[in-house]
Amino acid sequence: NEQAFYTKDLSVYYGEKQAVKKISMDFPDRQVVALIGPSGCGKSTFLRSLNRMNDLIAGCRIEGEVWIGGQNICDPATDVVSLRQKIGMVWQRPNPFHKSIYENIAFGPRYHGIRGRKELDRIVEDCLRKTALWDEVKDRLDQSGLALSGGQQQRLCIARSLAVKPRILLMDEPASALDPVSTAKIEELIGELKKEYSIVIVTHNMQQAARISDRTAFFFLGDLVEYDDTQKMFTNP
Ligand code: ADP
Ligand code: ADP
Repeated sequence: NEQAFYTKDLSVYYGEKQAVKKISMDFPDRQVVALIGPSGCGKSTFLRSLNRMNDLIAGCRIEGEVWIGGQNICDPATDVVSLRQKIGMVWQRPNPFHKSIYENIAFGPRYHGIRGRKELDRIVEDCLRKTALWDEVKDRLDQSGLALSGGQQQRLCIARSLAVKPRILLMDEPASALDPVSTAKIEELIGELKKEYSIVIVTHNMQQAARISDRTAFFFLGDLVEYDDTQKMFTNP
C-alpha cells in the first residue's frame, strides 16, 4: 500500500545504549496515535525517528525501516527537505521564528517555491483559520510571533507546520508547557486536525491520551509493550 505509514523493526541507539528496541508499529490514516509511558522510555526518540530529526544528534544511530508514502525514509538517499514537507513537527515548547506572524507561516511555502503574494496570503489565512487563530491575529499579522501568548504561539507553530501541506503531524508533548485553557484548545484542535492529517503525539498525561487519541501505544524501557484502540486500552482492567 503506497499510502501506508509504519515502522518495521525500528531501533535507535545513542552510542552503545539502545533507546528504542525493534519497534514495528503501524499508523492508521487520519487517526491520532498517542505514545505514552514513563519519562526516558524512548517516546521522543521514536517520534524523532519518524522524520529523520535524530540525524541532528551526534552519536545517534538508527536501524530498521520507516515507511511513508511508499518510501523507506531511513534510506540514506532520502531527500530530507521533501520529507519535511510531508511531515509537520510541533515541539513541547512553542518555538515561533523571530519573525512576524505572517512570515512564520509564509516562510515554509516560500522556501518550497511559492512566490505569489496572493497565494501566500491565502495559505496564511487558511492555516490561521485551521488553528482557530485567524480572528485573534488577523489585524496584526505583521507583529512578531513572540508577542503572542504561550497558547497562541503553540497554535502558530501548528499553523506553521500545516503550511507546507504535510500528511502527517508529529507532536512532542505539545500542551505540557501550557495552561489548562490553552491545553483544552490544543486538544480541541487535534480533534479537528485528524479529519485531514495522521497525528502521532507524545504525552505523559494518560487522561489526555484517553481524551484525544484513537490508538494508544505504551512504551517501557525502549519496548512497545502494548498498542491498541484507546477505548479498549483504558476500559480493560
Ligand atoms: P523528556 O523526558 O521530556 O524527553 P528529557 O529531560 O529526558 O526530557 O530530555 C530533554 C532533552 O535532553 C531531549 O532533547 C533529549 O534528547 C536530551 N537528552 C535526554 N537524555 C540525554 C542524555 N543521556 N544525554 C544527552 N542528551 C539527553
Ligand atoms: P522519553 O521521551 O520517553 O522521555 P527519550 O526518548 O527522551 O524518552 O529518551 C530515551 C532514552 O534515551 C533515555 O534513557 C534518555 O536518557 C536517552 N537519550 C535521549 N536523548 C539522548 C541523547 N541526545 N543522547 C544520549 N541519550 C539520550
